[in-house]
Amino acid sequence: MDLKRTHYIGSINQSLKGQKVVVGGWVEDLRELGKLTFLTLRDVTGVAQVVVVGEAGIKQVKDLNRQSVVRITGAIQDTKSRDFPFEIKSEKIEILSRAVHPLPIDPIGRLESNIDNRLNARALDLRNQKTAAIFKMRHHVLQSMRKTLVDLGFIEVNTPKIIGSASEGGANLFSLKYFDKQAYLAQSPQLYKEQLTIGLERVFEIASFYRAEKSHTVRHLTEFTSVDIEADFMDYLDVAEILEKLVTNVFEYVEKNCIDEQKILGIDIKKPKTPFEKITYKQAIEELGKEGISLANGDDLLDSHLRKLGELHSGFYFLIDWPMKLKPFYIHEKEDDQSLSKSFDLQYGYLELSSGGRRLHDPNKLRERLTEQGLNPSQFEDHLKAFDWGMPPHSGWGLGLDRLMSVLTKIDNVREVVLYPRDPERLFP
Ligand code: ATP
Ligand code: MN
Repeated sequence: MDLKRTHYIGSINQSLKGQKVVVGGWVEDLRELGKLTFLTLRDVTGVAQVVVVGEAGIKQVKDLNRQSVVRITGAIQDTKSRDFPFEIKSEKIEILSRAVHPLPIDPIGRLESNIDNRLNARALDLRNQKTAAIFKMRHHVLQSMRKTLVDLGFIEVNTPKIIGSASEGGANLFSLKYFDKQAYLAQSPQLYKEQLTIGLERVFEIASFYRAEKSHTVRHLTEFTSVDIEADFMDYLDVAEILEKLVTNVFEYVEKNCIDEQKILGIDIKKPKTPFEKITYKQAIEELGKEGISLANGDDLLDSHLRKLGELHSGFYFLIDWPMKLKPFYIHEKEDDQSLSKSFDLQYGYLELSSGGRRLHDPNKLRERLTEQGLNPSQFEDHLKAFDWGMPPHSGWGLGLDRLMSVLTKIDNVREVVLYPRDPERLFP
């Protein structure tokens, strides 16, 4: 059976008038107008009007449910319709797959369904052009990120997601049985990407990571996509600059390459102003103090504090130089103040998008810090031994792709921008 199509709908225009085409896709709508039957056909590139002519054809589609799959052979002709620039006059209709009626959600989105019902029927939800636009945009974001990083000499890598020891201390790890051993799902590629700087110097990874946190917020998932880099011969502000470049390139790329998607989503993407503001942790504490929120030096910034900071600083900004005690064991201290770290978070208003910093590369200092944080250096020997093989000074960051997508699309809930989100409640489909 021949399944080939000659054209995607998006590649057809009036210049093809009179030409025969074979198109295929989903029946979005079906209307009888007097003696004529109009069928609206959608493929991933767009939508076209088909006039069904001939008794046999009309009979074929008469009881056809919407979202059924058809392949149509016909000729391009002018149309009287105001919604379409041309129409296809059917010569042959093949019904390839029938959809049930009613469907669990209105796939066109005329009837709004709540997010839970949509996620339960996610594949069908992609027939909603708003949903499709989000994931087409996500594809472009990934293209742009890869381009930026490859152009800067980064090598894309894949590190294991099944790991044998609790790499960053053990909190929030999913554990699983690995034959007769205990294993975990990786929370981040942190230790691997650091080790890889020995051989590849600049690496990046785009992958899913796992956190067993019972967070019920619009920004936390138990499985999320992280964009991670690690680079040798760079200090923390050098990699912060790369992050700024990567993010602004994404905005520029999407502004140019996702014109239809922006229209469908009702957004107007513009490259953010650079350089992003840099606010030290100390300044943040002072600013919050002026707003009546008194925090001691060394206190963590909680959600409510970040909300206030987000009101004071809309858009992108870096929060830099966090106290050492708030940072993981691998973070490097500042040379001029050992209580502070060479670290940063990239914020968008209240929302944390990324954390990064300079890493310790001296194995003795690392052992000391592990002990200070109540971790056992002997459990990190596989990692620490690489630090005796000529470990270069290095820095890096991890950026939450799902959170960046929610900023780009101006959709608060990360579940909307992830195909099959996983949260403490949701494990299916
Ligand atoms: P938060 O404080 O918001 O829970 P975090 O500081 O624990 O985040 P990091 O370990 O710094 O997160 O991870 C780097 C980035 O990965 C975060 O800035 C965020 O964008 C993303 N990220 C981390 N955890 C999650 C999650 N559970 N769901 C979605 N994205 C996440
Ligand atoms: Mn963080």
